Amino acid sequence: MRVINFSAGPAVLPEPVLRKAAAEMLDWHGSGMSVMEMSHRGKEFIAIAAKAEADLRSLLAIPTNYKVLFLQGGAIAENAIVPMNLLRGRGVADYIHTGEWSKKSIKEAGKYCRVNVAASAEDKQFTYVPARETWKLSRDAAYLHVCTNETIGGVEYQWTPDAGEIPIVADMSSHILSRVIDVSKYGVIYGGAQKNMGPAGLTLVIVRDDLLDRALPITPSAFHWQEQAAADSMLNTPPTYAVYIAGLVFEWLQAQGGLAAIEQRNIAKARLLYDCIDQSGLYRNNVRKEDRSRMNVVFRLPDEALDKAFLKGAEERGMVQLKGHRAVGGIRASIYNAMPIEGVQTLAEYMREFEKKNG
Ligand code: PMP
Repeated sequence: MRVINFSAGPAVLPEPVLRKAAAEMLDWHGSGMSVMEMSHRGKEFIAIAAKAEADLRSLLAIPTNYKVLFLQGGAIAENAIVPMNLLRGRGVADYIHTGEWSKKSIKEAGKYCRVNVAASAEDKQFTYVPARETWKLSRDAAYLHVCTNETIGGVEYQWTPDAGEIPIVADMSSHILSRVIDVSKYGVIYGGAQKNMGPAGLTLVIVRDDLLDRALPITPSAFHWQEQAAADSMLNTPPTYAVYIAGLVFEWLQAQGGLAAIEQRNIAKARLLYDCIDQSGLYRNNVRKEDRSRMNVVFRLPDEALDKAFLKGAEERGMVQLKGHRAVGGIRASIYNAMPIEGVQTLAEYMREFEKKNG
């Protein structure tokens, strides 16, 4: 029996994807091999990677002047890789501080350049996205960094950031492919795969090609976007099995009707939980309504004992991984693309039932 998995990541994957991977485990398309056993330079894997890239390009409508890189290291590694790749000739980068993941990005970038925190939501415990008018951008910044969905705080940009001529670098780890975006508004988009794309181990980087000549000479080759772009992400061995599963997820997304369709479903799913919270006297979500995340719904109960009781009851009903991040506590329901609406309905029903008994 499969559980209803609200993990923030690695997270639930679409069941048809897992079934297909299982069916192809020992023998991929008559090759006599598992994808895990293939050379990354063989024709079979090259076809798998090319199809994954083409499907991703079509899902996100990625313009032709952007490179798509399938790398390793995760988003935390990218926190260092971003400045290394963009700082040539510049000493400052702008960052918008919206929570735990922004904080990590800022700390890491500080090893490589002067960081200007152009706006911060710290004054209200990171419960909102600072309005564009309040951003104090530097004139000579190499780039502006944003985290467009704060996985821990449950805060999401519902608008596209703009910084004029300064390229925008966005950590989209926890909401990429959950909604339609305009890739052309960004210089770089990056994210770990393990929430909405596939297994951990794969890091996606989408980079505008005019930004590829800005790397510092110290940049390691495996993390040098220009070198990786020239090598079709095969300068080192890519995370082959993770690329394959992500490719199956992209096919599944297309079969769901693409991002416009999945976005509507994500809006409906998030509404079920936020309505439940807003109608309740027991559950509290402090995020400004306009900035609430559709992917990570966080809420609190009045005390820790109730948190514990809530989690225990949820587990008894097959709902797991609802505990909030250790940095902030409370409850967090991550409802990525692969979480079916029925799973969210089950949670909403349980929340109402729990409130009746404990409210
Ligand atoms: N950024 C965001 C927004 C995330 O949600 C996460 C993972 N939870 C990370 C960065 C870090 O990713 P990784 O552990 O794969 O480096």
